[in-house]
Amino acid sequence: MAKTLPDSKSRFRCAHCGNLTRFDVVRSAKVSEFWHVDISGAPVVEEATVLAEEIVEVKCRWCAAADRIEIVPRPEFGGPSTEGPGDGGP
Ligand SMILES: [Zn+2]
Repeated sequence: MAKTLPDSKSRFRCAHCGNLTRFDVVRSAKVSEFWHVDISGAPVVEEATVLAEEIVEVKCRWCAAADRIEIVPRPEFGGPSTEGPGDGGP
């Protein structure tokens, strides 16, 4: 399963059902934030930097498969642009 996030040239794809657009991503992150607190005490996070990140799980929203998520190229880099049944589709 995918344990990294796609970059600007790639995307997730569910190899089970062909889903390209809907995923539940669980990630654990260590984040540094700049909190701007107003006079009433309400904080607003104005800046956030991810210091470390771990992908815990990527699950397909359509078929709930968590072990068949792959990273494929985006359409402009030769990847799929339509969603369709995969090799083990419904
Ligand atoms: Zn799926």
